[in-house]
Amino acid sequence: MPNHVSVSIVIPVYNEEKNLQIMRERLLPIMQGLGKSFEIIFIDDGSSDNSLVMLKEFSQNEYIKVVELTRNYGQHAAIMAGFSVCRGDIVITMDADLQNPPEEIPRLLKVMEDGNYDVVGTIRKGRQDSFLRILPSKIINMVARKITGVEMHDWGCMLRAYRRKIVERMISCHEHATFIPALATVFGKRVTEIEVSHEERYGGKSNYPLPKLVNLQFDLVASFSDFPIKLIMYGGILLSFLGVCFGIVLAVARLAYGASWAAEGVFSLFAILFVFVGMQFFALGVLGEYIGRIYAEVRKRPEYVIEKIHSAKGKE
Ligand code: UDP
Ligand code: MG
Repeated sequence: MPNHVSVSIVIPVYNEEKNLQIMRERLLPIMQGLGKSFEIIFIDDGSSDNSLVMLKEFSQNEYIKVVELTRNYGQHAAIMAGFSVCRGDIVITMDADLQNPPEEIPRLLKVMEDGNYDVVGTIRKGRQDSFLRILPSKIINMVARKITGVEMHDWGCMLRAYRRKIVERMISCHEHATFIPALATVFGKRVTEIEVSHEERYGGKSNYPLPKLVNLQFDLVASFSDFPIKLIMYGGILLSFLGVCFGIVLAVARLAYGASWAAEGVFSLFAILFVFVGMQFFALGVLGEYIGRIYAEVRKRPEYVIEKIHSAKGKE
């Protein structure tokens, strides 16, 4: 591998044995066709299938490096691990499942170089996912934009290019539960977005069932704003206000219609009580989410632990 690297490709891998071979076959010629020095870094995020074995074999190739993590740390932590190892002036992240076509890389690079951008984000065009996977994403994209104030139109597409200085700024954050595209958008001065095509997952199935997706989005919201806590506060004020109004209505009704009327309202009171109790639990849950994240930060455990870096012998 040459000493100076122009472009690094960073790919997190979690149980992608069905996709890796074809990924490599499509990616390598494209990178070689660029006429630039490059490296491809796969991060094995604690896969339990055959992925690591395949990747180790890939690492015999002079352009490919494989970072083996000790366990599953999640997509964004895995990318951070890749960032810590990569050396390119421009760093491109992408998924291992071929949903981001490697054929888009030259265009991404061209936009970055022509416009002298720090970050080139992407918007998925003709997204090939199930309706149930797209709908939550759409809502999430909108809410995320409003809440965090970060102008990004597609938060989920990982095919993105970053300049070295942005990558270094992100590494120096040492944040747990982070959301890389948002972080980069905040850290870069010249940021743009282009449309890229999106394909169906080649093999296997998505690693993001709904609960994991919800958790990831909470990471996003919690690490960029205190909006949920504010929401509880305003909600609380509104609820107490409504409660007082309701009390007044009950008192007036009691005076106007007598005690027999009031007793018949007992069950509706129960219903209202349940709503409030539910709200309180919800509020506690949100607070708990934040406390859990603070706890993770305070413990100062590393966001990921690298077991070993595999590369061809004598390559460096
Ligand atoms: N991934 C990872 N660790 C995880 C989950 C996912 O490294 O815990 C990788 C996965 O191998 C893929 C990328 O992150 O390269 C995106 O995952 P996936 O395709 O499952 O997400 P989706 O496309 O459904 O959003
Ligand atoms: Mg995918």
